Amino acid sequence: MKTLNLHKDVSFDVQKLREEFPILNQSVNGNPLVYLDNAATTQKPLSVINSIDNYYRTINSNVHRGLHTLSERATEAYEASREKIRDFINAGNTNEIVFVRGTTEGINLVAATFGRTSVNEGDEIIVTGMEHHSNLVPWQNLCREKNANLKFIPVSDEGELILDGFENMLSERTKLVSVVYVSNSLGTINPVKRIIETAHKYNVPVMIDAAQAVSHMKTDVRDLDCDFLAFSGHKIYGPTGIGILYGKENFLEKMPPYQFGGEMIKSVSYEKTVYNELPYKFEAGTPNISGSISIGAAIDFIKSSGYDNLYRHEQELLAYANEKFNSLGGIRIIGTAKEKTSVISFVLEGIHPYDTGTILDNLGIAVRTGFHCTQPLIEQRYKLPGTVRASFAVYNTKQEIDMLAEGLKKVKNMML
Ligand code: PLP
Repeated sequence: MKTLNLHKDVSFDVQKLREEFPILNQSVNGNPLVYLDNAATTQKPLSVINSIDNYYRTINSNVHRGLHTLSERATEAYEASREKIRDFINAGNTNEIVFVRGTTEGINLVAATFGRTSVNEGDEIIVTGMEHHSNLVPWQNLCREKNANLKFIPVSDEGELILDGFENMLSERTKLVSVVYVSNSLGTINPVKRIIETAHKYNVPVMIDAAQAVSHMKTDVRDLDCDFLAFSGHKIYGPTGIGILYGKENFLEKMPPYQFGGEMIKSVSYEKTVYNELPYKFEAGTPNISGSISIGAAIDFIKSSGYDNLYRHEQELLAYANEKFNSLGGIRIIGTAKEKTSVISFVLEGIHPYDTGTILDNLGIAVRTGFHCTQPLIEQRYKLPGTVRASFAVYNTKQEIDMLAEGLKKVKNMML
């Protein structure tokens, strides 16, 4: 198997870090893997893989049920992870941390509970023109059910939110503002704190889709003062099938349960049920125990890497990629906001993104092509059939960006 020494060129000690990611050390289509699809999902360090392995080898048991030792150990580890997550996002207490399947389920939970009980005919929900389908379709659906209206904060050509008219959009009809913190297809970091402050002046609660934020920058729910926030484990170096919904306790208390069954009950008779306390009221059925525990290992990984190091390294990669792309010519970058995470969406002029993606894959380079689950943004706002997206994580290197640039030259030679 061919492997690379990718790391002489960067200040961050990527070499050491890459050793913790066994998946990176492999060939794909006869070439060393260059994994640049981190906005879709990140790879997992050994600590996370070992945490999953260790759970099934040593303490696999159901939580909050048995009096036996294994069940107690599993419950302890599960709740310790909840506390770790609370601390990680600086929530006030663990009642505000609900384990869900991912960002999508977190948003659906809020739409199905808070949304269904507080949105009525003629009411309004505000999102932005750059939402992932996960933060668009649940609200579209709710508005359709309730005969309410969905409004959009517009997006500029550069990929920034146009907030001039935002305050005027707010009224007593507005029941929620739900905004993506970092755009998955453009990389734009949105000024969510300012959006929250403005919405709160009108007593409108704000939900933050933080799926693309938490892996890149410290996210502090109390500093932001958001009312709900959701993110996914698999995008922060953790497992798939696990995510977090944060909600302020006063909102969660008033919301009805999302699903019904075991775990979310305090007592049940043939006639009626008394629901459990927070956060268990929202955790019906046997949860993803190994995932819940191992997301804690992912948080430990991020903490030990250090947000400052991580952010600096990724910003260096972003700047380097911008430079490379500019010198290539015939390439249009979609999303040039001043504040961006390490995501570059682009199109090679005259070449369909799918062709670019396929040729790059043959070279062992994994990028994402298409709408990136933001079809209205790409198709209606930017009038494109899709883009190619390269997204960098903490383990990527400048040499990998060189390989991407070389790959793009080959694409141009083949297609033009
Ligand atoms: N929101 C954003 C901005 C995303 O990038 C994604 C995933 O790509 C999601 C929501 C949905 O996350 P998940 O599929 O993990 O639920």
